[in-house]
Amino acid sequence: LETRRLDKFLAEHLQLNRREVRILLARRAVAVDDKPVVDRDVLVNRFSKITLDGNVLQANEPRYFMLHKPIGVVSATTDKQHKTVLDLLPVTDKPGLHITGRLDLNTSGLLLITDDSRWSEALSHPDNKVTKHYRVTLQNPIDESYIEAFANGMYFPFEDIVTQPARLKIVSDYEADVWLTEGKYHQIKRMFGRFRNPVIALHRISIGAITLDKNLEPGQSRPLNKQEIASAV
Ligand code: URA
Repeated sequence: LETRRLDKFLAEHLQLNRREVRILLARRAVAVDDKPVVDRDVLVNRFSKITLDGNVLQANEPRYFMLHKPIGVVSATTDKQHKTVLDLLPVTDKPGLHITGRLDLNTSGLLLITDDSRWSEALSHPDNKVTKHYRVTLQNPIDESYIEAFANGMYFPFEDIVTQPARLKIVSDYEADVWLTEGKYHQIKRMFGRFRNPVIALHRISIGAITLDKNLEPGQSRPLNKQEIASAV
């Protein structure tokens, strides 16, 4: 997170010279996160609440969005070839926004976007084993034998790991719900690949307690509500 000195912030924000800034601080007119500050070398960042005589100069609260990612849009902040999910977000001030748990180009569904990196780390850290729920459509019929294979875990030689126990529920002959607590590269496609059964559609329904809003069409987004934000920490 980028930090800067309080006096620099005040000088730029209020178009003041150094002497004027020193006077403001000396008369305890400036508060950072609701505490009066007299030291001009205190460090602030864009999440610091900064007030002058009680008037808010900067109140940048972190931002949190859910996006219904469409197929064909890339989970990156910039890309030369494809539209990115950030291009879809109807906000003007995008620096600092990043994705919490990417999806493949041809995968759709819930994507979380925030500028609060501690929050996104809590959701994506492997130790926290946050459950991700996917709906999978397969090329060939599935059967009960898949359930045990997913629960037992599969050895991935490239990473030299065994996948965490995953839950699989058969929805229909060609559809399954899968719950993962991790996110290895192309994990779901590779797991069904063990059965030589190609995934023809993949859609993420939820991450932890946050479920894709049914009112959001592909490409649409909305800010998270307080409960959704709090569910991750
Ligand atoms: N598994 C995949 O194979 N792709 C995704 O996008 C997510 C999980």
